[in-house]
Amino acid sequence: MVVLLQLPRFHASVFLTKPASLCKTHFNLLLKPKLPITIKSTLSTASGPTENIDIPEEDTHVQLSLEKLFVPPETDVPSAGATSSLTARILKGSNIVLAKYARDAQIAQAEFVKSSVKTEDCPSDGLPEFALVGRSNVGKSSLLNSLVRRKRLALTSKKPGKTQCINHFRINDSWYLVDLPGYGYAAAPQELRIDWEKFTKDYFLNRPTLVSVFLLIDASIPARKIDLEYASWLGVNQIPMTLIFTKCDKRKKRKNGGKRPEENVNDFQELIQGFFQTTPPWIMTSSVTNQGRDEILLHMAQLRNYWLKH
Ligand code: GDP
Repeated sequence: MVVLLQLPRFHASVFLTKPASLCKTHFNLLLKPKLPITIKSTLSTASGPTENIDIPEEDTHVQLSLEKLFVPPETDVPSAGATSSLTARILKGSNIVLAKYARDAQIAQAEFVKSSVKTEDCPSDGLPEFALVGRSNVGKSSLLNSLVRRKRLALTSKKPGKTQCINHFRINDSWYLVDLPGYGYAAAPQELRIDWEKFTKDYFLNRPTLVSVFLLIDASIPARKIDLEYASWLGVNQIPMTLIFTKCDKRKKRKNGGKRPEENVNDFQELIQGFFQTTPPWIMTSSVTNQGRDEILLHMAQLRNYWLKH
């Protein structure tokens, strides 16, 4: 188990309520100290949280101020002089601190359950779920396949008639990954686009078991207006959101509009920060190298286990 720190100086508050439809897991840091944070990937968790999940050994030094971290609920925040044990638990290529609820992260079993055209038709067994959504071609199917380590599972949602549906995949018989329709597909007629929008927004607002939306953003290109609009809508409506930056292996600056993935990641966050009370969690990923896979699973595990307890 991860030993939690008892460091009282920062006042942290957690939104623990489950208003109308959603359990908020956002964390609010009231003080905003600027601290150099060393992002370390080596996590000193002897057993429990990270079992069977490979945590890469190499260190990445990134400067992140404390208010830009995502600190899971019920994690004490250290005082300015004692941040090292907190920073040692930041998941690599992310702003997420690994905390006590990160257990049972690995995926042993995944099965397609059903496609629904309305929120009311979605499974009603009350299991927690994470919804993957993003612009067409962002790499959503590749990520889903990489998460479940099955080459073709996501093909199920690409079958004719299912691309516009809410597709539920049950994981380990205990939670769901939900594949939502891609948006921004240039060839789609205007009426269809508006329809999809209405339908996914209804799902976000009225699905009580939705723990977090995972919004996929292509980090190999500069921020797109439609993605910024999507993210800001989620922020304004206080839907818990994790940003999953995809295609982080694509590093050719010239091809990618002159910026590296990390620059696009920073730019995107700056553009949306005004819409969020607190910094949303984010993770850099690649389905080619599997970067970020284990980090996503650990993040999902800690959100899920916290959600189940409250
Ligand atoms: P979807 O439409 O969002 O489901 O996107 P797909 O998963 O079908 O991927 C769209 C394209 O992006 C395909 O050509 C993939 O091979 C490519 N792609 C997806 N993920 C990555 C990634 O992490 N890195 C790179 N370099 N290409 C990717």
